[in-house]
Amino acid sequence: MARASDEAEYDCVTCGACCYNPDDNRELDYVDYVEIDPFDRIMRKPDLVRRLVVLDHKLRPHMRLSHLHRCVALTGSLGVKVGCGIYRDRPQMCRDFEAGSKDCKKHRRERGIER
Ligand code: SF4
Ligand code: SF4
Repeated sequence: MARASDEAEYDCVTCGACCYNPDDNRELDYVDYVEIDPFDRIMRKPDLVRRLVVLDHKLRPHMRLSHLHRCVALTGSLGVKVGCGIYRDRPQMCRDFEAGSKDCKKHRRERGIER
């Protein structure tokens, strides 16, 4: 999820598609998606780490996903109204994701938000 100030056409608070494990990842049975840099703020918050972080098979930290394949920090309803429950502490990968980019559009198509 990108910054809240991005263009209205790609209004992240009515989307949330990039906070889901994408289809190509799922097809390969990859259960981890949002990688966390060990220096990201979230890693300095033990309570958040305990609740929201999982390690992959190479012991790299990732955001925990729910059984619906969505990041457990995502609040609200996909494509209607969403929020990031740890917005100030979200991983760098989320901060760098660009609203309106090719990847953004791909995520939106996959989740049925745009064609
Ligand atoms: S897919 Fe694009 S518009 Fe949707 S939340 Fe992510 S960055 Fe924002
Ligand atoms: S940490 Fe926040 S912005 Fe990043 S995937 Fe989870 S809900 Fe989305």
